[in-house]
Amino acid sequence: MRYVKNLKCTNCSTTYKPEPDRYLCDKCGDKGILDVQYKYQKIKNEWTKKDLINNKERSIWRFLPLLPIKKETKRPNLRIGNTPLYSSKKMAKKVGLKKLIIKDDGLNPTGSLKDRASAMAAVKAKEADADTVACSSTGNAASSLAGNIAAMEDQMKAIIFVPKRAPSGKVAQLLIYGAEVVSVQDSYQAAYNLSDQAIKKWGWYNRNAAINPYLVEGKKTVVLEMAEQLNWQVPDWVVFSVGDGCTIAGAYKGLHDLKQIGFIDRIPRLLGVQAKGCAPITKAFKTNRGLEVTGENTIADSIAVGSPRNYNKALDAVRSSKGDMINVSDQEILKMIKTLGSTTGIFGEPAGVAGLAGIKRAVSNGIISLEQSVAVVITGNGLKDIKNARKAAGKLIEIENDIDRLEEIFFKKGVI
Ligand SMILES: *Cc1c(COP(=O)(O)O)cnc(C)c1O
Ligand SMILES: [Zn+2]
Repeated sequence: MRYVKNLKCTNCSTTYKPEPDRYLCDKCGDKGILDVQYKYQKIKNEWTKKDLINNKERSIWRFLPLLPIKKETKRPNLRIGNTPLYSSKKMAKKVGLKKLIIKDDGLNPTGSLKDRASAMAAVKAKEADADTVACSSTGNAASSLAGNIAAMEDQMKAIIFVPKRAPSGKVAQLLIYGAEVVSVQDSYQAAYNLSDQAIKKWGWYNRNAAINPYLVEGKKTVVLEMAEQLNWQVPDWVVFSVGDGCTIAGAYKGLHDLKQIGFIDRIPRLLGVQAKGCAPITKAFKTNRGLEVTGENTIADSIAVGSPRNYNKALDAVRSSKGDMINVSDQEILKMIKTLGSTTGIFGEPAGVAGLAGIKRAVSNGIISLEQSVAVVITGNGLKDIKNARKAAGKLIEIENDIDRLEEIFFKKGVI
């Protein structure tokens, strides 16, 4: 923590000591989301790109000077981050670009980008000496918290609140990782409210991303990593799907950090992508008015957040980067699952590929132009939501053990 200055309220600028269980500003309540402030000059003086080259740690912890944790705190025994970056000409062409970079964050230990935040939560809970960590989640935050708490290999417990609609792959993960799972037979909003009451009532450590200021710091590692993998030559655009808004806010924070310490010379534009059936942040961005709570009508369950808590941080991130927001339909998302899989071998869940579907739309709308370089993060693994994947997957051949019949079908299909 030697580089952390304090926690600063994004609403009234009051500063606080970086206690591990400090969540919101005392004066501003729910609006008082805190932001971790760093001593950038000191980091700049004491940490170089060369130090990173010599650093053998292959996980998010290689960026320790930019993370708000104590060096000596126990961490989950999993490899968080260090996910691969691909450049795909063929996929670029499919979305109307010359150059496209894809970072597959579905290859994190529990299958989503959320591991970056949950690992942070596990460490901060340890620093707070908590025995129980809780969160509400549309699925991935939950399964990643459960996995990361299991990987602490100690007495800490995870208690998880999920909405009724959470896909069964994610619920299976939760139970396998040994969490106590509460399935609220209602919306995400309801699951959030119940978790909020329970956390207050029993004093558990709170992993709700919009409220806990440390989680965004975990999420930002996705862009720290991406920038290093690109040898600090950042693209023109970086694209994320947006639900609560913490991921894109974290991306901006990471890029801002890198610029402050001189590792990159400009901040790429951020494109935030929401699902048409649940796009309150896009609407607030376009209308410049406050947020209106919406329904949660999309198959992309991980970004189906009708009442996002962190929308201000997300809006600030997109605006500060001179970026944009766009929506995509469920149809476009489903189609993109198949296109991405069959073109690159990367399998994303609906919210995982929504960003990529957004690129295609942004190119055809003229927001992104053909010669610009674009990076997208596939935020979650397709195996988590097989039900929706099968809708996009196409037909298989069902047949008895009969080679003549097979030949007939193959001939008709043009396979042979
Ligand atoms: C959580 C999540 C997102 C969006 O992150 P927010 O912080 O809610 O905006 C996108 N994709 C996947 C797969 C996620 O799990
Ligand atoms: Zn405040």
